[in-house]
Amino acid sequence: MGLLSALRKIDRQHWFVCSTCMTESGHDELKSVFYSEGPRVEILGRQWMKCPRCGGTTTRSFQEIKDDGSEAALWGLERIVKKYPRQQFEVPPPRPSP
Ligand SMILES: [Zn+2]
Repeated sequence: MGLLSALRKIDRQHWFVCSTCMTESGHDELKSVFYSEGPRVEILGRQWMKCPRCGGTTTRSFQEIKDDGSEAALWGLERIVKKYPRQQFEVPPPRPSP
């Protein structure tokens, strides 16, 4: 199991971290990272992935973190992701309010 999960490839386009959740959870990656293949929303000409937990758009994909050169941050996040099954991070979107 350990070896398998270490070799599991992370598709960085579909993994995100939410800054709002990171702040609100006291920097708990487990509560801030999410996996999504859903469509992004466009705000001010930029594509954002909406956070399924808080509905905010202050999110960044792992790919963007890598592109920013934040290798250390990315390493920490991917370590968490590999440690748990993916379902842990597949958060169902909140019910739309009437
Ligand atoms: Zn969030």
